[in-house]
This record gives sequence, C-alpha cells and structure tokens, in this order.
Amino acid sequence: MTRVLEDKVAIVTGGASGIGRASVLSFVEQGARVVVADLDAQRGQETVELVGSGRAFFQACDVSKEADVRALVERAVHEFGRLDCMFNNAGMPGAVGPVVDIEVDAWDRTFAVLVRGVFLGIKHAARVMQANDTGGVIVNTASIAGLHAGAGPIAYSACKSAVISMTRSAAVELAPHRIRVNALCPGLILTPLLDRGQETDLASVLARAQPWPEVGTAEHIAQAALFLASEQSRFMTGETLVLDGGITARGPGVFAEGNAAGRAIANSISKSLRAPLPDGAPVGFDPGSISGQKS
Ligand code: NAD
Repeated sequence: MTRVLEDKVAIVTGGASGIGRASVLSFVEQGARVVVADLDAQRGQETVELVGSGRAFFQACDVSKEADVRALVERAVHEFGRLDCMFNNAGMPGAVGPVVDIEVDAWDRTFAVLVRGVFLGIKHAARVMQANDTGGVIVNTASIAGLHAGAGPIAYSACKSAVISMTRSAAVELAPHRIRVNALCPGLILTPLLDRGQETDLASVLARAQPWPEVGTAEHIAQAALFLASEQSRFMTGETLVLDGGITARGPGVFAEGNAAGRAIANSISKSLRAPLPDGAPVGFDPGSISGQKS
C-alpha cells in the first residue's frame, strides 16, 4: 500500500515529546524523512532512536530565535534535499496566574515561543517551499484554548488565537504558491505538558473530562497532523481541525448534569407546560416529551 508521505521531508518542532514525538513516528512510518527540532536535546535524540532507521535526525532549536529557525530549515534542505512539510508544534503553558499578577516578561516569553515561533516557522519554511514545484504544507498546533475562554491561561489562549489567525492569513497569502496552511486544535491531551508527575491519576481524570469516554493521546493528534501533512487534505487550507473528544461541541453546558441554572430553567419551562420536572430527571431534557407535546 502507498504510504501517504512517501519521499516527503518534514520538520517537526517540539519533536522531543508528546504530540511532536508521536507525529515524528507516524510521519516516518508513512514514508517521510524528518528533522526532529526541540530545545531538549536528550529527549530529541531519544525520538531519533525510537525512529531507528536513519530517516530522522535531531536539530537543537529554540523556535523563538530567528537564527535557530533559519538554521533548522537550511539543515533540513542540506541533509534531505528539500522541505515539504513544516509542523510548527513546539509549545509550553507559558505565563499562568491571575491577569492582575502576570509579569510583562512572562507574557512576552509566552508570545515569543507560541506566536513568534510559529511565525518564524511559517516564514522560513515558506521561503523554501515557494521554490518547490509541488509547493508544501504547513501545520500549526493551536488549541481549543484559542477558540474559547476557560481552556487555558490568558496568555496561552491569546497566543493560540493568534496561531489560528496566522494560519488563515498565511493560507490566503501562500495559496498561489501551492502552500497549504492549517491548524490543529487539540483538547485535553495526556502529554508531559499536562502531566507533570502529579499524584492524581491524570489519565483517568482526563478520560472523564469530555463527552468521549477515552483519554486524548498524542497519537490521536498525530493522526490528524498526518492527514493535514498529506495529499489526503489537498483542497483544505486556512482551516482549524478540532480534536477534543467533544468538549467544544458540548458548549456552555447550561443543561449539563449538576448545573443549578440549567435545572432552574428546565423546571421553569416544565411548569409552564404544566408538567413538573420529575426529581432526578436529567437536566438535558426535552420539555415537550415530558408534557406529551413536542416542543
Ligand atoms: P510536550 O511538553 O510533550 O511537548 C512540547 C515540546 O516543545 C517539548 O519537547 C519542549 O521541549 C518543546 N519546546 C518548548 N519550548 C520550545 C522552544 N522554545 N523551542 C523548541 N522547542 C520547544 O507538550 P505537547 O502536549 O506535546 O505540546 C505540543 C503542542 O500541543 C504545544 O504547542 C501545545 O501548546 C499544544 N497543545 C497541547 C495540548 C495538551 O493538552 N497537551 C492541548 C492543546 C494544544
């Protein structure tokens, strides 16, 4: 069977861990040669050893530094002869805490890694891809935190919104060069970014954090990155692909179990239909079905 990234060359930033590492492994399995880029040399080399076929190498890179990103792209082209896919995925939680307490330095460092890092990856990859007959593909890791409040700290969320915005603008600008640009919005994914050695069993907590009854894994996101990197998504550009087990589909959750406001509203509607809501009935009810008339 043809592999979807046969003979392609990719760079994966943040390739030492989590979503990046899982993506490196799936890209290589599907025929690509991959540059693993990261701040963490030890874990980056571990990723290369996991690949184990000479189809990947590690390049130390701080994505917030233009010289590092330029050197990264140059090395990919020097070693592998071309660049087809740039996966701008490196990230960290950044500044945390109440907005009234966040220091400017912490805010700026968050933006340097999460926003400037993606901008630099787009800039230097696109320069090389413009010369390709076949163009190229850029995939950026955003987050559901960039879509809604409440899924990440304020600086992180603002950065991920910026990634979604840059994805759209770059997609429009680069389309004439056949360079597609898309973003991924993962939900809660069990990687070292969230799992910092807490005593709680994070996997089972995360498995219950969304409608879908399984924990989100780096491999789930890597499969979507593979789809966006491959020709299987060749008419898709400027889009954000949400992979969150239904968190954003669930939305405000007013009628979710345990929400007092939802229960009060449900009771009020139910009374107006002269059919009180039975004790213990699920809040996400259809008032029409209780009164016997369809609403
Ligand atoms: P992770 O911590 O496992 O991996 C992140 C990697 O990025 C690490 O190897 C780290 O060394 C590297 N990195 C950090 N700063 C860097 C820099 N300046 N230059 C180069 N490398 C750097 O986390 P992950 O969950 O795999 O995160 C990957 C991406 O997914 C991030 O952009 C993150 O914001 C995003 N994301 C994660 C989740 C989640 O729940 N885990 C949810 C939504 C989005």
